[in-house]
Amino acid sequence: MTDKTSEFEAELRAVRNLSQELAQSNDLLASERDELKQWSRNLLALNHLTQVLTGSLDSETIVQSLFTGLATFIPLDIIGLARTEPHLVMTWSRSSVFTCEEMQVRARLLRHFPAGAKSGAHVQQSLRLAQAGVASGEDCASLSSFPTLGDDRHTMTIPLPITQDKQGLLHLERRQGTFTEAEFHVLSTVGTSLALAFRNADTHRQIQELASRDSLTGLLNRRALEEVLAREFKAGSRYSAPACFLLVDLDYFKVVNDQLGHLAGDQVLTSMAALMRKAVRDIDAVGRYGGEEFWIVLPHTDLDRALVLAERLRRQIECQAFEAGEGGVRMTASIGIAHIPDVAICSVFDWIAAADSALYDAKALGRNRVVVHVLDQVVSAESAVLTLAA
Ligand code: GH3
Ligand code: MG
Ligand code: MG
Repeated sequence: MTDKTSEFEAELRAVRNLSQELAQSNDLLASERDELKQWSRNLLALNHLTQVLTGSLDSETIVQSLFTGLATFIPLDIIGLARTEPHLVMTWSRSSVFTCEEMQVRARLLRHFPAGAKSGAHVQQSLRLAQAGVASGEDCASLSSFPTLGDDRHTMTIPLPITQDKQGLLHLERRQGTFTEAEFHVLSTVGTSLALAFRNADTHRQIQELASRDSLTGLLNRRALEEVLAREFKAGSRYSAPACFLLVDLDYFKVVNDQLGHLAGDQVLTSMAALMRKAVRDIDAVGRYGGEEFWIVLPHTDLDRALVLAERLRRQIECQAFEAGEGGVRMTASIGIAHIPDVAICSVFDWIAAADSALYDAKALGRNRVVVHVLDQVVSAESAVLTLAA
């Protein structure tokens, strides 16, 4: 009987042990399943972020997507981002608690990536040091390389090889827990996509820039004019901001070509472009409409000020001896102005047509003059000034 009891107790203990082991295994499985679920969520978020990054052609959107996306799968307090050409140093923090640290990161990034630095020595050095931290996969906080904000903060920095000449750094900081090797691999994947996204955005910007430039003079072209006018027209409608549009046509330009040759004509057009660019403010847009016709858009400018500028420009053209071929040539120009707000101008098309009709009238009135288009009437510069002053 005693034997049987002890046998039974032993079996009971064995069963208890087994069920304990089973419960432990279950717990382990459950935690591994949770970990896997978390990994799968992180992978989805990583996949989403890389798609968003590489799918965008605008640097600002890329940076915003990075800042909002990265923190969803790598726990962090601060993100720092710096790159050369175009120069960019930015930070993001999870909360305003880190404002001070964020400013410190920005200051340090600026020290490593000062404005105007291309692939300067200090940039190269910071990249080499960051790479050293990355290569060993260790927490960069232990390196003297890149910014650490004290012993209680952990950092991870990776280089962004955008192109051979353009480089960058992506830097993360957090207070809780050192960065793991797995997190480093995830950040490397993000860095690869980010560098690719910046490369795509740069190429896109360069193509856009080329497509909006006139190849002879380097000024904006007619395509760009439509964009500039549309922007100003929108601002005019929304905020009642005044703006003026000038069409400038050289008088008897054909004679230059006929007498001095086409190359000499080109020379005059190039010098004219430089003169016009110099005659306006940085915020004004200057372009070539085609042939010997140019355009100027003056944002936030009323008719009074546009008339002063147009008249000054007309005189400068009249007074300058343009180099052409072996010698010099004198030129004059006729200028048509249309301004907004104007009840007769309801679209960009109307705006161009109004300036064009003012230019036509300037030619008809004898050339070498400024004419303003005002509500279907022709007003020459002098009388327009008088009208406005009255
Ligand atoms: P108007 O006073 O009426 O404006 O006379 P204009 O001779 O300036 O105007 P017209 O339209 O009769 O002639 C413009 C000339 O501009 C004809 C054309 O050969 C020349 N032209 C157009 N594009 C270029 C260019 O890119 N380079 C050169 N050299 N000439 C050009
Ligand atoms: Mg002409
Ligand atoms: Mg013309």
